[in-house]
Amino acid sequence: MISQRLPTAQVMACGRTIAYTIRSSTRARAIGLWIRPETGLVVTIPPTATLRQAEAFILRHQRWALRHLDRFAALSARLPRRWPYGSTLPYRGEEHAVRLEDGRRSGVARTNARELVVSMRQPGLEGARRLLKRWYLGEASAVLTARTAALGQAMGVAWTRVTVRDPRSRWGSCSVQGRLSFSFRLVMAPPEVLNYVVAHELAHRVEPNHSPRFWAVVARHCPEYRSWLSWLRIFGPSLTL
Ligand SMILES: [Zn+2]
Repeated sequence: MISQRLPTAQVMACGRTIAYTIRSSTRARAIGLWIRPETGLVVTIPPTATLRQAEAFILRHQRWALRHLDRFAALSARLPRRWPYGSTLPYRGEEHAVRLEDGRRSGVARTNARELVVSMRQPGLEGARRLLKRWYLGEASAVLTARTAALGQAMGVAWTRVTVRDPRSRWGSCSVQGRLSFSFRLVMAPPEVLNYVVAHELAHRVEPNHSPRFWAVVARHCPEYRSWLSWLRIFGPSLTL
């Protein structure tokens, strides 16, 4: 699962400015256009085409582009507002109320009443955010290591190490040496979504590409993967801290 930061440009259409991402592809035969909630409008340009041609192509499809961009904008406006702008943070797909309190020792505790209690000597947003992030990283590391062990065994796939980080633009990755790396934000998502990402990265140990054979391996161990993939596309951006 890889997405990269790419050059962007903009074009005027129907009196509005449309920002888009440019992806040049040596494999593409023609100019292509697609929209996803997490990327916005992306134009794929083959080596034979120019940026000017790509812009003309976007203008020919401007109604289509604006319709979908507006739909995604409406959707993201409905995403929950997270702490500290809202009052809750998600853990394993469930909203938890964040409560700051004075304490002699600093730390975060999750209660059965779906609360994340942040104790610190001098309660403040920045300190609380640091503590919460450290807590999420620890939880994510435990959950992701356990899930990788269980799924790796079920799939008959070996790996060497699991690391949990905070990458800006991806949920997981798998190195040739079998090192798996995941975003700690996955522990905020429902367990099924986290499972899917683990299955996805482990499947790369068998098929290092995104071919139909690869997706067949994923489907064998995660039959509902399409649902979790679209969950990530739609709600992934709301897994913030
Ligand atoms: Zn992948």
